Amino acid sequence: PISNQVVGRLAPSPTGAQHLGNARTYLLAWLAARSAGGRVILRIEDIDSPRVKPWATEQAMDDLRWLGLDWDEGPDIGGPHGPYIQTTKANRYQVVLQELVAAGKAYPCVCSRQDIATAASAPHPNTDTATQHDHEGPVYPGTCAAWQIGDPLPPQGSYCWRYRATDRIREFVDLVHGRQQLNVAKELGDFPLTRKTGEAAYQLAVVIDDIEMTINQVVRGDDLIASTFRQLDLFEALHAPPPQFAHVPLVLGPDGRRLAKRHGDTRLSQYREAGIDPRQIIGWAAASSGLIEKPVCSRPDELIDSFCFERLDRQATHINDAIFRDS
Ligand code: GLU
Repeated sequence: PISNQVVGRLAPSPTGAQHLGNARTYLLAWLAARSAGGRVILRIEDIDSPRVKPWATEQAMDDLRWLGLDWDEGPDIGGPHGPYIQTTKANRYQVVLQELVAAGKAYPCVCSRQDIATAASAPHPNTDTATQHDHEGPVYPGTCAAWQIGDPLPPQGSYCWRYRATDRIREFVDLVHGRQQLNVAKELGDFPLTRKTGEAAYQLAVVIDDIEMTINQVVRGDDLIASTFRQLDLFEALHAPPPQFAHVPLVLGPDGRRLAKRHGDTRLSQYREAGIDPRQIIGWAAASSGLIEKPVCSRPDELIDSFCFERLDRQATHINDAIFRDS
């Protein structure tokens, strides 16, 4: 095996239908890997259990196939780095969690969202990164942080495990947005590694998966830049080299908010059922992200030579649901 081969990933969350914004991110992630002669791993991020929809995994895979985005390893074809469905890795996440606990990197936290909002005196400071972390909650005020190994645990089900964030400036060079800096402890705060049910939370699962799947290139929406800093902290705690990151701009509704149901129907499954040519969607995604000049119908593999990170726009794209209606 070639050790410096790019290994990228597509990581849909089956919490609902995939939409145009997801399609664009997947296209860019796929092109980034394929244009480097790299591999693509499909991983289903279904640990957000209350929000996961039973039909959404199959639908996401059908959407990707329809768009012409393939993968080398995934839930349907297996491979050396599975399992590819996060809920089937629950035991593995617990093992790594216990390592972090044993290393003094985590503590049980009984605070509710409300407790945190009330206790956090200062409003969340702005960070100096490319996007505003306005969906981020307040910095955790440290209410439960005095716990030490050997102290009694609160009753089962009443606490999550919270990570002790590192108090120093962290830096990485984003392939789209350039150099990023942030102090996780000060600007984001200690963050949950599990839910109160004990299930792994997003940050923990993603880092374990990225390490174990040997992912070395992560292409995802730039709303996750703050999470990347948390994950860099975890990579370091787990003694693993972090992947390279490319945070691509989001597709937003006309009101500037994250593409959602209120912006009308931009579900890929809906276009698929309406007989829209997927090459139209690929062409739109490539043009709106800056890779090609005009939205000409294209298959993903026809765009491999057009791909480079420098060409990508850093600004979000605003659309409305009429975009493929009359074509
Ligand atoms: N599953 C996440 C999403 O669909 C992506 C998380 C990640 O790329 O780390 O938004």
